[in-house]
Amino acid sequence: RFISLEGGEGVGKSTNLAAMAELLRATGRELVVTREPGGTPLAEDIRQLLLAPRNEAVAADAELLLLFAARAQHWQQVILPALRRGAWVLCDRFVDATYAYQGAGRGLDTALIDRLAELVLQGQGPALTLLLDVDVATGLARAQQRAALDRFEQEQLSFFERVRAAYLVRAQAEPERIRRIDASQPLAQVQADVAAVMAAYIEM
Ligand code: C5P
Repeated sequence: RFISLEGGEGVGKSTNLAAMAELLRATGRELVVTREPGGTPLAEDIRQLLLAPRNEAVAADAELLLLFAARAQHWQQVILPALRRGAWVLCDRFVDATYAYQGAGRGLDTALIDRLAELVLQGQGPALTLLLDVDVATGLARAQQRAALDRFEQEQLSFFERVRAAYLVRAQAEPERIRRIDASQPLAQVQADVAAVMAAYIEM
């Protein structure tokens, strides 16, 4: 089974990913924990290209194609083989992030993302997605306490508002797959909510 974790900046994705991995490992199954963009040496190189601050404007469709190049490699080399041998896969971001960041954030046509997703994933994707959701101001304030900002994190507030809104629309459109977690709560409560969703899913 394929599970992804999504959310904007500063929602606590890393901490919750680790907690989710622990819960999944406790089932005794093989678990592959991975991330996007990245997850293979080539895809991690593409991640570095994408995140590096640069003096050159990056065309939105160039960004989109790099993300899908990384995703194609990750999908074929890591995720698909893992799923085929019966492992569970937990991925930090997946295709929903592309709809949120490049679709809503950069204003790229959703139909174009649909076509690339179909080409690369053949209609497959996560069976469960947890969306950590917090208002943009709170998230960015948290993110700024961390290391230097990457190229994406230097965007305007309105960019992140569009990203958040797109995630929420996707969650409303696919409530069975995408579970929204209120990440404005204290971390212990967020983790309790995450654990409850995971426990129900593991039992399915
Ligand atoms: O998940 P993580 O925070 O490590 O992602 C790295 C950066 O890449 C973030 O700033 C995120 O906003 C950005 N990103 C993006 N489009 C994607 C996936 C990630 O802009 N499709």
